[in-house]
Amino acid sequence: MSRTFIYSGSPAHIVFGEGQCAAAGEWVEKLGCAKALVLSTPQQKADAEALAARLGSLAVGVFGGAVMHTPVDVTEEAMDVVLRTQADCVVSLGGGSTTGLGKAIAYRTDLPQIVIPTTYAGSEVTPILGQTEGGRKTTVRHASILPEVVIYDPALTLGLPVSMSITSGLNAMAHAVEALYAQDRNPISTLMAAEGLRAFKSSLPDIVAVPRAADVRADALYGAWLCGTVLGTVGMALHHKICHTLGGAFDTPHAETHAIMLPHTAAYNAAAVPELLAQVADIFGGSVGGGLWDFARQIGSPLALKGLGLSEADLDRAAEMATENPYWNPRPIDRKSIRALLQDAWEGKRPA
Ligand code: NAD
Repeated sequence: MSRTFIYSGSPAHIVFGEGQCAAAGEWVEKLGCAKALVLSTPQQKADAEALAARLGSLAVGVFGGAVMHTPVDVTEEAMDVVLRTQADCVVSLGGGSTTGLGKAIAYRTDLPQIVIPTTYAGSEVTPILGQTEGGRKTTVRHASILPEVVIYDPALTLGLPVSMSITSGLNAMAHAVEALYAQDRNPISTLMAAEGLRAFKSSLPDIVAVPRAADVRADALYGAWLCGTVLGTVGMALHHKICHTLGGAFDTPHAETHAIMLPHTAAYNAAAVPELLAQVADIFGGSVGGGLWDFARQIGSPLALKGLGLSEADLDRAAEMATENPYWNPRPIDRKSIRALLQDAWEGKRPA
């Protein structure tokens, strides 16, 4: 392995541990703030209100309107509340959708963010914001987008439904698999990626068996931090390009799309860089793609794109879009091979 690399550590504070959510107020004060606006989706608004009540005079309100893909009109609605309340920081309680709203506010105002993640998506440790306007999703990367403080409290994930735990975990694992062959990988990103994969390999089957086991939930959230961190550190490739295409153009659900595609994209790239993915084969057993697919099936993940409402006729356009302006990838891509890969994923076939 070449020993040439650049390593830049993240400036974020990572606070990890059961019950650490109770320290949110201390972190508001450590940031020099006193007027926190708490963000959530409508589904988690009651939890956000309870958090605001615990913050007491440090909270100026709750905005519970976060939705998937960070639509700009929702951000503008939240910005009105930021201005009206004169909030001096945001506290985002939830999954990637809520984190996305907090990032969109920070990008516009440079307000500091405290994120309390309740899924395994990993957005809380990346300087990347994806937002949608007029049906188009655009992505920006900027230092103001990276949250200053992340509080990982496994107790808040005990109730994450099993089906979402599975797909969100596989979504996180996809960040790690792509980090292993990233062009700009470094020894630390590789260590974190492999450790993140191991954390999910051991925890996801146990979560399926006993969803409210605190120690196992802590292992999965630890994996989410590791996998999210590498997503924020190194470049992603074919897998993320295909998932962005399917989510953006065909509105397939985010985590499920990642979960279904991962064995297929990993198998495709393993043919070109088997040495870089050898750890995946070791961790999951068997071949890279086959091992990941067997694991996904074992834990009850959806396996076929056709189950997400995508029609077989859509695959031609998806292959065309996924190969336009491609991200860097370790194996060359062309429309024919990506069309074949999508066909296998649509049918739910086990990769070799
Ligand atoms: P999500 O945030 O949309 O959550 C899905 C649903 O589950 C929501 O209704 C939410 O309120 C609910 N939920 C979340 N945690 C829960 C819990 N513990 N218990 C019960 N319900 C809970 O889904 P997600 O997969 O976390 O995030 C997806 C979004 O994040 C997408 O828009 C994606 O593009 C974005 N994302 C961005 C990045 C990035 O770096 N910019 C990284 C990953 C994901």
